[in-house]
Amino acid sequence: MTKYESYKKDVLEASLWLSEQGYFGSLRGSGGNVSVRVSETAMAITPSSVKYQDITAADICVVGSDLSVIEGNDKLKPSVEAGMHNIIYQRRPDVHAIVHTHQIYGSVFALINTPIPALLDEVSFSLGPMIEIIPYALSGSPELVNNVESKLANNANAYIMQNHGILALGKNLDKAVLNAELLEKVAHIYYLALSTGKQIFTLPESIIDLVAVIRNQEVKEALVKKA
Ligand SMILES: [Zn+2]
Repeated sequence: MTKYESYKKDVLEASLWLSEQGYFGSLRGSGGNVSVRVSETAMAITPSSVKYQDITAADICVVGSDLSVIEGNDKLKPSVEAGMHNIIYQRRPDVHAIVHTHQIYGSVFALINTPIPALLDEVSFSLGPMIEIIPYALSGSPELVNNVESKLANNANAYIMQNHGILALGKNLDKAVLNAELLEKVAHIYYLALSTGKQIFTLPESIIDLVAVIRNQEVKEALVKKA
């Protein structure tokens, strides 16, 4: 039993749920990763290339902000996307959990390289006024970390990763998973709406402005709390 035990259990539980719901792109695969902030300088993150059904909470890695392994199973490496998670925790004090998936409808927009505008208020208040595209770079590369970092200033809780998948952020793990779910829902609905060929209406400008104010406020409050 270590001080990270409950974080590790939460990460495994969220990963299993996302896997069972098909968020990792295949029901038996591990196409994605999940992390939670455990301190100012460390996170608990899923290991690389293992089926979540085959591991225990002890196999979840605890990684420092220099990406050194603090705790884990010697035979398992942390996710190759640990650098991407790390930069988000460094740049966004409001974020305490991150879900990266290869979910189907989110991935449709990753292929057509099209952001998702503000369409449904319950979704936009959680995710932000625009779900932007993070330009493509190879998984685990420093270029991908830079590309992710370049988009974080909009304070959104969801992004589409070009030709790859999605990122959902949250102030806790429940919220990050919920945000991945909300992104899948709005991507599915937007896809169906686009397929009608009819005009699509976004939320009114005044609501989009309010969404931006609320997202910026949450980040500002997290910064004040940290200081
Ligand atoms: Zn991925």
